[in-house]
Amino acid sequence: MPARNILVINCGSSSIKFALINEAHSHFTLSGLAERLGSHDAVLHWQRGDEKGSLMLPDGDHRAALAQLLPLVQNAAGGTLHGIGHRVVHGGEHFTSASLLDPQVIAAIRAIAPLAPLHNPASLLGIEAALSLHPQLPQVAVFDTAFHQSLPEHAYRYAVPEHLYREHGVRRYGFHGTSHRYVSHRAAEIAGLAVGDSSWLSAHLGNGCSTCAIVNGQSRDTSMGMTPLEGLVMGTRSGDVDPNLHGHLARALGWSLEQIDAMLNKDSGLLGLSSLSNDMRSLEQARDQGHVGATLAIEVFCYRLAKSLAAMSCALPQLDGLIFTGGIGENSPLVRSKTVAHLKLLNLALDKEANARSIRGVGGPIQAYGHPRVLVVPTNEERQIALDTLALLH
Ligand code: ADP
Repeated sequence: MPARNILVINCGSSSIKFALINEAHSHFTLSGLAERLGSHDAVLHWQRGDEKGSLMLPDGDHRAALAQLLPLVQNAAGGTLHGIGHRVVHGGEHFTSASLLDPQVIAAIRAIAPLAPLHNPASLLGIEAALSLHPQLPQVAVFDTAFHQSLPEHAYRYAVPEHLYREHGVRRYGFHGTSHRYVSHRAAEIAGLAVGDSSWLSAHLGNGCSTCAIVNGQSRDTSMGMTPLEGLVMGTRSGDVDPNLHGHLARALGWSLEQIDAMLNKDSGLLGLSSLSNDMRSLEQARDQGHVGATLAIEVFCYRLAKSLAAMSCALPQLDGLIFTGGIGENSPLVRSKTVAHLKLLNLALDKEANARSIRGVGGPIQAYGHPRVLVVPTNEERQIALDTLALLH
């Protein structure tokens, strides 16, 4: 059977990120981004090897972008596209794994939308457009939450009245599941262990950040909760704050719920702490020049990350390794060394040179000799979505 081609689509409310993946190759055959959809300057950018192109789509929506994109994809795939994998943020309690899209699955994704009001409706725009353009092609939804459906109840329940859980789904779901799953499988391969018989801590550190405890290939705890705001300090998200902060800001400053939501999601995290940037690379440069806010933001980021990893270790029977991934995890020796320095009780320590070397796609072990394994593992959520899609084509 010739190697198969899968198009992976990740839709935002006004954007579509895409990658065409051939199962035999590690690089993307074609990739790109359609952005500002629905506006006058809607545009589609794509890259195929060294070749790049852009196409204006004035007032184009998701369907218009996909209508332009799919012939490019068919061409890059040599005429045979075998399926489409859609990233969907929230699968609620309904989806414990990827699902072939049919009317029932679409209805379930729509029913879960109140839990992810920004994300699921955007995914549905892409799903419905792709299905209407290519009704004969198998299409699969892959959920960020599905990997975490194996959390035990003591890890996913909040200590709030039970009816909020039973009637309104108020519980912890966790996100970044596709990435935590991918890197834990890669880590087991690198370490020569069976994924079904190994225990990992994983830190996905991008613009959004989360930790995860993975035992025998299953997520047992994770730092994000009902929404992706819980847990770690992120680019612009606060992570954990006192739940009474909402009431305090409303009473003391007269803030509305919308203002509080926007502050916690868009103005906080690294940006809020540093008053400078949400971007770790910029903060590291500013810290080198003595910027006080940038220095503090990095300290808080690493301490809170270490604290979360220590908490996640409660879910492990033993530690086979700590995994760093995501833009920051894969590229910041500073963040890795500061974080690990707080984890002496787990006996973690880094080899300075291996840590410094592991950047820009170079992964592998970075622990000091005789200490528990610490691995840098570049994530590849698109590839995992393609693998999940392929698995459902049979
Ligand atoms: P997203 O969650 O949007 O996919 P990424 O995984 O690409 O984000 O991560 C983005 C983060 O990675 C940014 O904070 C960026 O500054 C950081 N990053 C990328 N390269 C470096 C680097 N060389 N040093 C420090 N941080 C980096």
